[in-house]
Amino acid sequence: MSSRLLERLRRRVGFRLSLWFVFLFLLSSAALFALTYYLLAAAIQNRERILLEARLKEAARLYEDGGINAVREWVNNQPPKLQKMFFVRLVNAGNSVTLLNVPEAWVAFQDTATDREEYRYESGEVIRLPKDEEEDLVLDSTMLADGVLLQIGRATNNRETLLRLLRESFLLVGGATVLLGFLAGNFFAYRAMRPVRQIVATAQAIIRTGQLDARVPPGASNDEFDELIRLFNTLLDRNEGLIRAMREALDNVAHDLRTPLTRLRGTAELALSPKADPAAAREALADCLEESERVLAMLNTLMDITEAEAGMMKLHRAPVDLGQLAREVVELYQYVAEERKIAIHTELPGPCAANVDRNRIRQVFANLLDNAIKYTPEKGSVTITVHDEPGQAVATFHDTGMGIPAEEQGKIWARLYRGDKSRSQRGLGLGLSLVKAVVEAHGGKVTVSSQANEGATFTVKLPQQLPTA
Ligand code: ADP
Repeated sequence: MSSRLLERLRRRVGFRLSLWFVFLFLLSSAALFALTYYLLAAAIQNRERILLEARLKEAARLYEDGGINAVREWVNNQPPKLQKMFFVRLVNAGNSVTLLNVPEAWVAFQDTATDREEYRYESGEVIRLPKDEEEDLVLDSTMLADGVLLQIGRATNNRETLLRLLRESFLLVGGATVLLGFLAGNFFAYRAMRPVRQIVATAQAIIRTGQLDARVPPGASNDEFDELIRLFNTLLDRNEGLIRAMREALDNVAHDLRTPLTRLRGTAELALSPKADPAAAREALADCLEESERVLAMLNTLMDITEAEAGMMKLHRAPVDLGQLAREVVELYQYVAEERKIAIHTELPGPCAANVDRNRIRQVFANLLDNAIKYTPEKGSVTITVHDEPGQAVATFHDTGMGIPAEEQGKIWARLYRGDKSRSQRGLGLGLSLVKAVVEAHGGKVTVSSQANEGATFTVKLPQQLPTA
């Protein structure tokens, strides 16, 4: 396997996970096997010891009661099947064998079996005498009162062969399980990681081609990966929206500033023209200054509108009493209103809180009151009300001015739009665009109702609770 392929495999989460699982599986099954092996070996040994001990005790009792003949009789009376299995030997103090019964299969083996020193004089301990792959002889012995050694044995299955079989089966089954587990684990992990590969491919496609509308195909299983895909796609939607809004905003601002900047340039050229006398040049420069201030104000307002429309305006929300805010704005415009002989009335019954950015909503109220005073002739009046409605705070600005014809009402919110009859008044045509953008950024709504010459009413509705994300 080339090192590059290995490196690629190593970087695959599924492959690494499978390796870990296999490692843990091996570790835990080895521990389980060791325990089973140990318990099984101990159980075999225990069973043999119990069986032999019972026989040994019986023979010893017979010997104590009736001597060697009683033991011989006992051996001869055993059913033939048992006789073929049991080994019985009595060795007297002079080291000669006085009784010997050797299982049939062990006859050929008996010389070696009986002559070995270490088996001959052992007492009180179970020993094992392997014959071949098939059989073992387990022996237990005890020293009788008159110095005679009694040995009882039993032919049994070769324990080594039994345990080797267990080891081999474990290796075979375990090996096959590990291999299968590793392959299946890799396959399932590879399948499970498909959404991640799709996300990576989509991100790479966007980076490579700059195509912002690429999306990850949504899955149907509703699991964590589907949730990740949904969130990733939402993130892409938002980013695309923001980038699009920023591009549009840039185009709009460039377009909106072109006219005043051209005007500014024209005036500056006039001031620089050799024909202009010093007084006319000064006047042109003063115009330039005024125009540049207008451009600056326009630029700032346009930036604010753009930010609010694109959802990028930072709102420092806090509970604000809109009645109190209205009072502050009225105070600010009291002097202008008095100068124009316009009365300002307020209907602010009680505290009316909403979760809003204080400065931004003050700007909204100020713009609406400024317009109301601006577009209302002398001796007119402006009425501001603030009240609660279920879940929202409502502020209205009603004036008795020139009103807005129905056909203009849809247009007044557009950037730089100025009503036909309003041209005589100062203004940039951006006030209502900013009002709308800021109110909507708060999750609220602003509407107008009016009839020409019968005044206008602007209604601002703001949610009292923070919008949930
Ligand atoms: P500006 O006041 O600078 O012209 P705005 O965006 O604030 O710009 O308003 C846009 C237009 O809406 C105004 O030019 C005017 O024709 C109309 N308008 C706004 N408020 C009122 C009002 N209270 N009464 C009558 N017309 C209004």
